[in-house]
Amino acid sequence: MAELSLVFLGAPGCGKGTQAALVGGRLGVPAISTGEMLRAAVAEGTELGQRVERIMAAGELVDDVTMAEVVGERLGTADARDGFILDGYPRTVAQMGALDRILAATGHGLDAVVSIEVPEAELVRRALARRRADDSEEVVRTRLDVYRRKTEPVIAEYRQRGLLREVDGFKGVEEVTDEILSAVAVRV
Ligand code: AMP
Repeated sequence: MAELSLVFLGAPGCGKGTQAALVGGRLGVPAISTGEMLRAAVAEGTELGQRVERIMAAGELVDDVTMAEVVGERLGTADARDGFILDGYPRTVAQMGALDRILAATGHGLDAVVSIEVPEAELVRRALARRRADDSEEVVRTRLDVYRRKTEPVIAEYRQRGLLREVDGFKGVEEVTDEILSAVAVRV
């Protein structure tokens, strides 16, 4: 089984969560979704959940220090030892620096960063179609705007590092999975 440490990036609605789960299954590594971890904390009503609930509902980003704690703890657990897919982290340049430190501290490297590209009009259509109970169109647009302003610089930086693999996400689910697997140079 291939052991790989990957980051998946892409605008909300690009299919990143679906692909992280599918590719994680194929590679035998856990798909770690920060959005899901935070939603679970909200559902459980933990102290973390109470702190982040409003921020998430508004489509804004949770602060970088909190996110570094969440991810640092998760990447230190046993099932992430032989590889992982990070879905939804890092989302800011500061988080990228924090991830570098977390990876160094937990003895991991980063093999590739996959960016799933989908045209804006399709992102809006998908986001509205699958929107969560309390998402207004305004929140959907805020999420997209936050992505453009804060996460696109992260993509540019990983491109400079030579880690970026851009994948066309405007295709069928299976085709995108295959494209990702070949982009990270894995045959399974
Ligand atoms: P997602 O399911 O990845 O779209 O995440 C849902 C929400 O969780 C986001 O809109 C943010 O409010 C929050 N979130 C998830 N990951 C991060 C992150 N890396 N940094 C800040 N906020 C995050």
